[in-house]
Amino acid sequence: MTVYSGPVFDMAVQQFGVIANHLSIPMDERERILMPKRAITVSCPIHRDDGSITVFEGYRVQHHLTMGPTKGGTRFAPSVDIGEVAALAIWMSWKCALAGLPYGGAKGGVRVDPASISKRELEGLSRRYMQEMIPFVGPHTDVMAPDMGTNEQVMAWFMDTYSMYHGRTVTEIVTGKPVSSGGTLGRREATGRGVAYLARRVMKDLDIAFDGATAVVQGFGNVGSQAALELYNSGVKVIAVGDHTGALYDRKGLDIPALMRHAAAHGSIAGYSNQLHYDPAAILTVPCDVLVPAAVERVIDAHVAENLKCRVLAEGANGPTTPEADLILEKRQREIFLIPDILCNSGGVVVSYFEWVQDLQQLFWEEEEVMRREYQILDRAFDQMVRRAKKDNIPHRTAAMALGVEKVRAAKTTRGLFP
Ligand code: GLU
Repeated sequence: MTVYSGPVFDMAVQQFGVIANHLSIPMDERERILMPKRAITVSCPIHRDDGSITVFEGYRVQHHLTMGPTKGGTRFAPSVDIGEVAALAIWMSWKCALAGLPYGGAKGGVRVDPASISKRELEGLSRRYMQEMIPFVGPHTDVMAPDMGTNEQVMAWFMDTYSMYHGRTVTEIVTGKPVSSGGTLGRREATGRGVAYLARRVMKDLDIAFDGATAVVQGFGNVGSQAALELYNSGVKVIAVGDHTGALYDRKGLDIPALMRHAAAHGSIAGYSNQLHYDPAAILTVPCDVLVPAAVERVIDAHVAENLKCRVLAEGANGPTTPEADLILEKRQREIFLIPDILCNSGGVVVSYFEWVQDLQQLFWEEEEVMRREYQILDRAFDQMVRRAKKDNIPHRTAAMALGVEKVRAAKTTRGLFP
C-alpha cells in the first residue's frame, strides 16, 4: 500500500516499469529507486480579505536525496494532490540526472486556484506554505522553484519568509526569484528558451527551414509564451495558441509579442481577438511543423497521438503524453521526432541550478554566460539521448529516462544501503 494514487502517479510508475525492464533492474531494487523518500502534507490556514479563515492543503515530496539536495517547483492549482506531486517529483529526479545536476527531484504544491484569491491572500498563503515547510527544506536539503500557478513574486515571498525566520538573507533557499532579490538573469526565460532551442535544433536536422515553418503552442504561461516568442523571433509562424480559457488560430501566424502583452495585462489570452477563436481541444491536431504542449499532464492520449500532424513534438509541459500515446508515437517515430519532457523543458531547472550556484558564491553571471551554459547542457543531454536511442533501438523517452534512472541507480549502488 502507498499513499500515492491517481492517473499521474500511475503514469510515472508505468514509465518507470518500462525503463526498469529495459535496464533489467532486479525487482527488489525497483522500489528503492522509485518510491519517494519523504512526503510532507501541511495545512495552511490564512486570513481571507473578508475576515474569515480558510485552510488550504499543501504538499512537498522529496524523491531521493542520494546526489545532493532535492530540487523542484511548487505548483498552485486546484488539481494538486499528493499523487500528482509525487509523480512530478519523480520526473524531476530523472530530469536532473539526465542534465547532470547534483540534485534529486522534488515537487510541491497547494491545492488552490490562484485566480480565485486576492494578491494579499496569495501572499499570505505563499508565506504560510513556506513557514510550514521550514523544518523540511534548506539550501542543502531541498530547494524550491516556480511551477504552474507560481512566479517570481511567490519565490520572493518564500525567500523572505525563510530569511526572516533565520534572521539573515538566505537567497539560495529558492530559485526563480526576481533578479532584484538574488535571482539570475535568464531564469524567467530559461524553460521556454530551452524548448525552442531544442525544437530549432531538430528542425535543422530535419531540414525544416524556420522561415515559413509553423508551430502550435498549448499553454501560454511562462513556458508556452516564451517558447512561442523564441520561435516567432526565429521566423517560425505560430499559427495556434491555447490556454485554459480558449484558443486562437491564424493561418498567417499570430502576433506573439502582442499576445504576450495582452496575457500579461489580463492574465490569459481571453479577449485578445473575436475573429481568431478556435476549438481548444482541436489545436493539438492542427497540421504544423512543431507542436509544443506546455500546459498540463496527459493531454496527448492514444486518440490524439493517432491524429497528431506535427513533425516535431517538443514537450514543454511535464508528462503531457500518456504511456498509451507513447506506444503510438513509437510506431510513428519516423514521422514525428519526440523531444521528451525531461529533456525538452529541462532548461528551467538547469538555470535554477546556475541561480543556486551564483547565490552560494555571491558571484553573478552575465545573461550570455547563463544562456551559453544552458544550451551546452541541453546539447550534451540531447546528444546522449539520441545516441542511446540508436544504440539500444528504443524511443527517445525511454532513452532519456534510462539515462536518468541509471545515474540515480549507480549513485545508490555505490553509496550502499545504510543503516
Ligand atoms: N518547475 C520546473 C520544472 O518542472 C522548474 C524546477 C526548478 O527550477 O527547480 O522543471
